[in-house]
Order: sequence, then C-alpha cells, then structure tokens
Amino acid sequence: MLLRHTPDTIVKREALTIQPAKTCQPVGALYAALGIHRCLPHSHGSQGCCAYHRSALTRHYKEPVIAATSSFTEGASVFGGQANLLEAISNIFALYDPDVIAVHTTCLSETIGDDVSQIVAKAIDEGKVPPGKFVVKASTPSYVGSHVTGFSNMVKAMVDEFSTRTDRRENIVNIIPGFVEPSDMREVKRIAEQLKVKVIVFPDTSGVLDAPMTGQYKMYPRGGTTVKQLIATGDAMATIALGHIASQPGARQLDVKCKVPCQTLGLPIGIRATDDFVNALRVLGGSVSEELEYERGQAVDVITDMQQYFFKKKVALIGDPDHLVGLAGFLSDIGMDVRHVITGTPGKKFMKRVHDAVGTDMLNVRESSDFFYFHQLIRNEKPDLIIGNSYAKYIARDEDIPLLRIGFPIYDRIGHQYYPIVGYRGALRLCERILSILLDRQDRDTPEESFELVM
Ligand code: SF4
Repeated sequence: MLLRHTPDTIVKREALTIQPAKTCQPVGALYAALGIHRCLPHSHGSQGCCAYHRSALTRHYKEPVIAATSSFTEGASVFGGQANLLEAISNIFALYDPDVIAVHTTCLSETIGDDVSQIVAKAIDEGKVPPGKFVVKASTPSYVGSHVTGFSNMVKAMVDEFSTRTDRRENIVNIIPGFVEPSDMREVKRIAEQLKVKVIVFPDTSGVLDAPMTGQYKMYPRGGTTVKQLIATGDAMATIALGHIASQPGARQLDVKCKVPCQTLGLPIGIRATDDFVNALRVLGGSVSEELEYERGQAVDVITDMQQYFFKKKVALIGDPDHLVGLAGFLSDIGMDVRHVITGTPGKKFMKRVHDAVGTDMLNVRESSDFFYFHQLIRNEKPDLIIGNSYAKYIARDEDIPLLRIGFPIYDRIGHQYYPIVGYRGALRLCERILSILLDRQDRDTPEESFELVM
C-alpha cells in the first residue's frame, strides 16, 4: 500500500497541507493564454517554474505546449526582472512573431514586487511592441489561489487589454467557458450553433490542444479566439460565464468596463445544468433545435433505463470547484449518493453551492483542502466510486475503489481532450463511463451463481 501511513483518525490541521488538491496559478493562466489565437504565453520568473507549467499541460494534453520565460537568475531574483522581461518581449516578437504575448507572474517575481504593467508600458514606450501586436499581463502568484484562479485572472486580463466598447451593440453573446477541456469548449460552441446564437467563446483552446497529426509542426494552430473577436466582446449584448470561480470575474469585468450585462451559470454538466445553459441562450434570442431536444431525450432515456445501477451508489469527488458543483448536482440527479466533495481551490461559497446542487448538507464538503484529508474521509466511509484527477489513483488502488478520471491533471489516460462532459452528449458520456466502471466492478465481484450475461 503506497499510502499505508494515512491514519483513519482525522485531526484538525491549520498550517499544513499534504498533497494539495490543486496546482499553481500560472498553469491556469498559461492554459487560458493558449486559448488566444497566435498567442505566446510568457512566464515572468525562473526557468524551473515555466518548465513545470509547460510539462503539466503537455502531459495532460499530449500536445506541445509553448511558453517563453524571463529566465530569472540570481541577479534578477534580487534586483527585479525588468531587464529580462524587456529583452524577452523584443526577442519574442522578433523571433516567433505572435500576435499576443500573455505574461503571467510567478511566486518569485511577485515576491520581488515586479510591476509588470509598468514594465510593459516601458516596452511599448521603447518601441519593443510592434504596431498591431499586444502584451496581456496577469498577476498570478501561487501562494494564493490555484490553477483555476490563475485561469480566471488571465481571462480578466484579456478583458482589460482587449474588450472595447464602440457605439454599436452587436447581436452576439460572449461565453466564458471556464477551465474545461478543448472538447467541452467545442461542445459549448456546438450547442450555441444549434440554437443559432452567434457567440464569441473566450478563451477557446479547441483547435489548439486537440489538433490533429499532420506531420508538420505549427507553432500557432488554427484554433483560439482571435484578437478581433476579443476586441468585439465589448460590443456584445450579453455575457454568459460558465462557472463561478473560473469565469465570473472576467464576465463582471466586462460588465464594468464595457457595460455588457452578464449572468453566471454553473458548468453545463448534466441535464439540469445544460437545460439552464440552453434556456439562457434561448432567452437571448436562440431557438432550441429538434436535434438538441433529441440528444436530451437520449440522455434521459439512458438515465431512466439504467437508474437501478446508479441508485444509492456512494461517490467521492475531488477536483476543481466549478466541475465539482456540476458533477455533484448531476450525480445526485441520477440517484447516486454523493458523500465527499473536496477541492484544493479556496472559495468560501463552495460548500453552499455543493449543498444547493445536491439538495442536502448531509455530506462532507471542503475547500482549500488536500488528498490526505480526502483519503481519510474515504477510509472512514468507503464509496463505490471515486471521481478525480490522476493523483487520486493512489487512493483508488490502496482502497480498491474504481476511479473515474475527470478534471485536471490527467496524465495517465487520454480522451478528455476529445470527448466532452458538458451538454447532453457530455451527460450521456458520463453515464456511459460511470456505468461501465460500476458494472465491470459488479462483474468482477459477483459470486458465480449470480453472474449475469444481461444487465
Ligand atoms: S515557484 Fe510558484 S509559480 Fe513557480 S512552480 Fe512553484 S508554485 Fe508555481
């Protein structure tokens, strides 16, 4: 047993986190920046940070993840990284010709107190930013928040840099999809298309981190939200933020800056949450297509047919807050018994959101938490299924509980880039994956006399 030292007795810890259920802010900022077309993300800090952020994303997406770094050495670490960033900006535009450089800070540059806005202003003054090119900057120290808040900060920075209000109001809806997979972003766009609503999804990593093998390396793949679209977000008639932590701050910033009214919904995971999303688009002028209704009906049919296998099955969830709220709601809708819900991302309202989604407060919910606590909860009350990222596999193996990999990071499986979990199709896929896992386990454990061909 790899985790044999985890005790069953839970004691209160205040100053110690053991295997946090999150990663650092720049990872999320880098991911968001990749959702801008022809953007080169830039890490203002040491090479080690940048190497880690890139490898985390590369391992998850199995795609090359580009980023530059200010490459702090001892001098920059003591005296500040202005000279490094100025040189980096001019080198990057000269060598790699992106439309946008998206700078995020790291623990080191934040601790020194580098003023990135001032450095970028100086770069513009000195002519280091060519005409028609942009530098976005987000503050992402990792001693606060998580990769999800890093994503959110970079989205806010996009609004600050690009969104512009003119005297026109366009019949367009902005959608901020949250820190979800490229497949989910693609599905969000497809649903909007089904309703015939014109949307700008930003950021958008579909077509960037799920690109096909062509035999040719393309530094800037065809996907991503263009600068033109980002500027146009200021003239949209509304913004829908999917997820309170990852998306709401950007949507509110757009409201403050350009007076684009916004509403925040949960991630459209499951039937109920997808209905909310579809309805929001309908109210904004869309009309629900027959095909979408058909998809919904198929998902409901599967849930109805297989309900007896979901019913009262205990499930424990660990991951990112917006995902967890959506998943907890959906799993309880299909009859499962949600027992433990743990996130490493801070957020005071998380507990209430989960309770509201599940419809009861009789479960363990905690924010700013870790895998150690999650494991202790599981040792005290064993679930039938764990849903979490790859790090949960150690607990799953030790406790002999099946694991469904959802969330970030997933280093040891593929599929998450290509198959959505949002929308009605996503709900169908979730059901199929959960059922396969539960029925495989039933087949494995059932006595010979009860072993059934038809289930
Ligand atoms: S030093 Fe900070 S920014 Fe760099 S990898 Fe560690 S937590 Fe992330």
